[in-house]
Amino acid sequence: MTVALPASLADGAAEMRTWLRALHQMPELGYEEHKSAAFVAARLGEMGLEPVTGIGGTGVVAVLKGQGLAPPIGLRADMDALPIEEASGLDWASRVPGVMHACGHDGHMAMLLGAARHLTKAPPPPGDVVFIFQPAEETGAGAAAMIRDGLLERFDIPEIYGLHNWPGLEFGRFLACDGAQMAAVDRFDITLTGTGCHAAMPHLGRDALLGASQLHQLLQGIVARNADPLDSAVVSVTQVHGGEAYNVLPETVVMRGCTRSLSAEMRDLIETRMRGISTGLAASLDLKITLDYHRGYPVTQNSAKEAGLARETALRMLGPASVDPAPKPSLASEDFAYFLEKRPGCYGFLGAGPGPALHSPRYRFNEDLLPVGAAWWVGLAQRVALI
Ligand SMILES: [Zn+2]
Ligand SMILES: [Zn+2]
Repeated sequence: MTVALPASLADGAAEMRTWLRALHQMPELGYEEHKSAAFVAARLGEMGLEPVTGIGGTGVVAVLKGQGLAPPIGLRADMDALPIEEASGLDWASRVPGVMHACGHDGHMAMLLGAARHLTKAPPPPGDVVFIFQPAEETGAGAAAMIRDGLLERFDIPEIYGLHNWPGLEFGRFLACDGAQMAAVDRFDITLTGTGCHAAMPHLGRDALLGASQLHQLLQGIVARNADPLDSAVVSVTQVHGGEAYNVLPETVVMRGCTRSLSAEMRDLIETRMRGISTGLAASLDLKITLDYHRGYPVTQNSAKEAGLARETALRMLGPASVDPAPKPSLASEDFAYFLEKRPGCYGFLGAGPGPALHSPRYRFNEDLLPVGAAWWVGLAQRVALI
């Protein structure tokens, strides 16, 4: 798909590419985005804005005054990188060993800066525009940290929008759901304790490994037999640790993994069933089974009106073919969910076309996407969907 952009945004592509490459070479993990924050703040300052730093740790916020004809609007980019050794082969690859912008948050920063550049040169937008550069999306819940620091009240943000580049989705396509866009993610640690013994004399012990194998299968029954088949969820056991010898049944086995759900009800159902299954299996096999269930990011829940505005903005700025006609949520997760618990808004995916997946060491941000994402931001700020 080709996307026709306003000329001034297309002209800004080269500058955005320069910013992207600079940021890509200096990736920083969550809450350590000091250089990235300084870079962002410097660019915002050059545009005549007055960036405020230190919101939620390393977050940066700047406000562009509007005409007062519309309520303020919050536009958010994330800033953190991942603990991955880059294997992209790019000339401008990471200069930090073991750290890489493998989720494209460098591109997200560049796109929002590009939009800010465009908007600061244009006539004032209808309402104030709050540019939000957030730390620690990957694991640190930087959105929640910014909320705790008073972001939403201090900068008067009644509605908020976010965007993620999405490899595998057709280039330039915009995907936003009414309702759940991304899943809640929870982690679990299960410890099964029996009685270790000689493998030749299993009757003298209580086999924690047998319990683990049965538990793994029973956990798969939650989605298969407890969840409504029309609702989506995942229970994934990703680690099993137990035993060290060919001839010893171990005393303990540890299983770990994560769950994904698209509603609070499904999330509660999964946890409740995991507890029930663990208790029942412990009784039937005479084992001790402890389940530690840790709730992570909640469901990223778009509000229908704002999701509609987001799609209409994509339609106006990127063309009618850009809007995904049958959007489906992803069971990945995103800490933008915390903003959407507090304010109406929308989180959308912007198709980056074919290429290595997010979090791959070979991932490359599609530079052609920079002006496309910036155009969507500009359209939101200028409220083109309401004109
Ligand atoms: Zn990521
Ligand atoms: Zn990401």
